[in-house]
Amino acid sequence: MYDDSDLSLDQAHAVRIIGAPFDGTVSFRPGARFGPAAIREASDGVETYSPLLDLDVQQVRYADAGDLALPMGDVQQALRLIREACDDCVNNGAMPFVLGGEHLVSLPVIEALHQKFPSMVIVQLDAHADQREDYLGVKLSHACIIRRASEVIGENRVKQIGIRSGTREEYQTMRGQESLTTFKPDDLSALRTWVGDRPLYITVDLDVFDPASFPGTGTPEPGGIDWWTFQRFIQSMQGLNIVGMDAVELAPQWDSSGCSSVLAAKCVREMLLLKADA
Ligand code: MN
Ligand code: MN
Repeated sequence: MYDDSDLSLDQAHAVRIIGAPFDGTVSFRPGARFGPAAIREASDGVETYSPLLDLDVQQVRYADAGDLALPMGDVQQALRLIREACDDCVNNGAMPFVLGGEHLVSLPVIEALHQKFPSMVIVQLDAHADQREDYLGVKLSHACIIRRASEVIGENRVKQIGIRSGTREEYQTMRGQESLTTFKPDDLSALRTWVGDRPLYITVDLDVFDPASFPGTGTPEPGGIDWWTFQRFIQSMQGLNIVGMDAVELAPQWDSSGCSSVLAAKCVREMLLLKADA
């Protein structure tokens, strides 16, 4: 699905898909490094047309830049390489859509975009708060990504949705920032109002889905959403000023059925369709 585009990578205003196959800081089960390849493979079996949105991927100007070559044992260097790729993308007027990889890969994407869009806000879908100050003494961990991102973009610029796991301290942080919201229709419409016309980054940690429909992830967390809830979320984000996106934490080998990869590919389709030309 993602390789039928003949757009050149430097075309302005296009979406540039960038694979970031890195899982060097995961806290539990590894394997997210295989996420981007699994999403591309599964996308072959996914229709390009979304009945709910009545849009087709053919209406999106996008190109797939393939996967970055990232050193698994060197976190700083891996993040630097992702940042360079995103700087290049943003400087060419294209929008980065990064496929993870673990959630830490979002940080350099957010840093690159914040340079260009200083008023940018973030909506995070996730099972986990990712608000730790550090994880086992390490600040650059996928368990700390939202805390680090908040330090980049400023206080009260993040809304978190689907969260059902965290430490007491993380929950205190989130309650203090009033960052938590839900998928209830009223909350989705309030979320849309909160974003307003500000530049928006959407980060989708796919473990927001229930492990029953998405077991292929490193840190499965019971009590998650289903496909239809995700589609309602996507609908509620239509028309907003989206400047960057990512979909992270697919670790395909934990689901021998392959269904998690298909779900991830379908999520990527719906997210891409947020950038469809009318
Ligand atoms: Mn998570
Ligand atoms: Mn996460």
